[in-house]
Amino acid sequence: MEDKLLVLIVNDMVIFPNNEVRIEYDNSYDKQMIEIVDKIEDNLMLIVNPIEDGSIGVTSFPKYGVLGRLKLKMNVPNGKTRIVIEGIERVEISSYMEDGNFYRADYRKVDILEEDDAKDYFNILVKSLDNYIVKVPYMGNAIMSQLNGIDTLNDLCDLIVSFLPIKYEDKKKYITTIDPIQRAKYLMEDMNRDLKFVELEQKIEAEVEKELNDTQKEYFLREKIKLMQKELGEANNKDSEVERLTKKISKLKCNAKVKEKIKRELNRYDNLNSNSPEVGMIREYLDWMIHLPWNHYTKDTNDLVRVKRILDSSHYALEEVKDRILEYLAVKQNTNNLRSPIICLVGPPGVGKTSLAISIAKSLNRKTAKISVGGINDEAEIVGHRRTYIGANPGRIIQGIRKAGTTNPVFIIDEIDKMTKDIKGDPASSLLEVLDPEQNNKFSDHYIEEEFDLSQVMFIATANYVEQIPYELRDRLEIIELSSYTEYEKLDIAKNHLIPRELEEHGLTSLQVQMDDEAIMTLIRNYTKEAGVRELERMIASLFRKIVKKLLLTSDVAFYQIDNEMIEELLGKKKFTYMETSQEDEVGVVNGMAYTVFGGDILPIEATLFKGKGDLILTGSLGDVMQESCHIALNYIKSNAEQFHITTDIFENHDIHIHVPEGAVNKDGPSAGVTITTTLISLFTNRKVPKKIAMTGEITLRGRVLGIGGLKEKVIGAHRAGIKQVFIPDENEKDLDDIPEEIKKDIRFISVNNYSEIFQSVFREEDD
Ligand code: ADP
Repeated sequence: MEDKLLVLIVNDMVIFPNNEVRIEYDNSYDKQMIEIVDKIEDNLMLIVNPIEDGSIGVTSFPKYGVLGRLKLKMNVPNGKTRIVIEGIERVEISSYMEDGNFYRADYRKVDILEEDDAKDYFNILVKSLDNYIVKVPYMGNAIMSQLNGIDTLNDLCDLIVSFLPIKYEDKKKYITTIDPIQRAKYLMEDMNRDLKFVELEQKIEAEVEKELNDTQKEYFLREKIKLMQKELGEANNKDSEVERLTKKISKLKCNAKVKEKIKRELNRYDNLNSNSPEVGMIREYLDWMIHLPWNHYTKDTNDLVRVKRILDSSHYALEEVKDRILEYLAVKQNTNNLRSPIICLVGPPGVGKTSLAISIAKSLNRKTAKISVGGINDEAEIVGHRRTYIGANPGRIIQGIRKAGTTNPVFIIDEIDKMTKDIKGDPASSLLEVLDPEQNNKFSDHYIEEEFDLSQVMFIATANYVEQIPYELRDRLEIIELSSYTEYEKLDIAKNHLIPRELEEHGLTSLQVQMDDEAIMTLIRNYTKEAGVRELERMIASLFRKIVKKLLLTSDVAFYQIDNEMIEELLGKKKFTYMETSQEDEVGVVNGMAYTVFGGDILPIEATLFKGKGDLILTGSLGDVMQESCHIALNYIKSNAEQFHITTDIFENHDIHIHVPEGAVNKDGPSAGVTITTTLISLFTNRKVPKKIAMTGEITLRGRVLGIGGLKEKVIGAHRAGIKQVFIPDENEKDLDDIPEEIKKDIRFISVNNYSEIFQSVFREEDD
């Protein structure tokens, strides 16, 4: 392969025979290649221009190139390599091949025979060149001195083209066209076009000079450019664009002030030179202003019956939530007052917050906009960046409005409990301005600069936890809570909503696939762990996908009944098993109750005791608040040891270890107080606590039991684990109304105000 020459690929200039060029490289491939050429005898290489720009590969290489010689190579201080290459002659390249990072090729000299009429072309070309040099101001006459030694049309063409100021793309054909007469024709065309351009330019300039004062001059010079572009066949894009934009602007329904501003910007845009860096920025601004829905409303339905029908058909149960929404809409309709508070749907993931908001929009006949503000810490995300900022954009509110395309969409703001505050500002307070009916008819985004009326927008926020919604926002919001679904509710949702919907999406019917309750329950219990039904929906979709495949692949089976066995076959082994209470009652283990984003579950707390000096050891990655609960529980027991029949020396001679095993996550919060207390008393008194009991409640040093959150979820979890009796704080008794009847009939609830009531109840039987 060494006998073949290395190929130098040039992408931005053409090197002609008898022509010397200087090139600088920083590309390491080219550098390496030049190093090799520098070492070989004669320093020869083949120079080619790829047929299509940018694509490199044997197929993009041309049939003709130039044999070149490296005349000089020097490394310059900026890390680049400067070389001088001389073009020797046009050659035909017979085959290219790859050699590591480089290409090599075989070549053959091209014989160029000049016929008689070549002489005529020679003479005409010299004349044309003369004329060209005289008329074209930017063409020097250095070329003339080189004409002397030239006596073939071939060499003349190569010489002239190497001087001619034409584009790289146009120059390439002068290498690959072998016939010198054809090249001479090309040259005359190219020079003529240039000449016409120059004449036109001079003509207009002369007129401008004659007739115009300075301000008009600018206008006419612009006209001149347009004319020239037209002459050259290049349509003036910006010009026709300005025309198009003017038409659009005239149709906008914005107020006069805004329109004036848009027109002013358009004017600026029109007057700027296309190369100015501002052009793009103004164009983008115009784009925003033109596409914002200024005063473009959809008409609300006033038919609340229809609204209810749509909400009912899209969402199972959630009666209270739907009622509240209907009330809200009714009041709004009745008073035509839009200043009612903003709805905020709060609840764990997948319980239908977003989809309910979308259904509200649909039922009202409004468009939807949806943004998430989770994780944002910069107020510019809400109100935009000023236009002077590089890469500026409007904030998410304006972005959402543009996407919705109307002035009165239902605007869903997801995760308002997940914003953070830092040095870049407080997004919550910006959001407050957006939501405040007193101010939001004049909402001003920093990028848009003009006021936009948000007062007709129906905002619906969503959040996972009420407590984490920034305080100032909470005040503005009408909080509507959606809680976790029980297994039975999930079953109903699956049967009445998810399965029919997924069947349709997969092009299936109930004549082809059916799923009994037991199978759905298995999906709910063992393949998902969630408060809502999103994962369940995904699992059903996944099952149906696989069924569709089966139906298509095995033509003899036309119906599938999905049962537990089939679920395991299609979805693999069970993914989750819930904490189930063991059958045996034990000393030092008591069931607490946890509430996480996955819903509720039981949380057994264990304690042991061994010889020591009275230390308290806590494990199970407990949060600060839960650790405090352990100390409070222990001290409460110590100070009331007698009441609990505990001999006090047990505290001095033993270390106590409390552990909360894995299983339910999020082990923080005060609500395990009563459970820890019970666990310790069981340990100290060596008495067993029944496994079918669970409890929740914060404890104080005096033994008072305080209220807790998430009772419904906790109870649902406990019920699933087979719990029969639950102690709850008095304060939470009101929450029992929310607990589904099917659970209430299985569990006995005992509400307590003081821990002694739990003690009496749990340990009484053994006392008897
Ligand atoms: P969130 O916004 O609360 O996280 P989504 O609105 O995204 O939850 O709901 C997830 C999926 O569950 C959606 O497909 C939704 O239609 C479905 N879904 C949730 N709750 C219900 C319900 N009560 N009835 C019918 N489908 C529901």
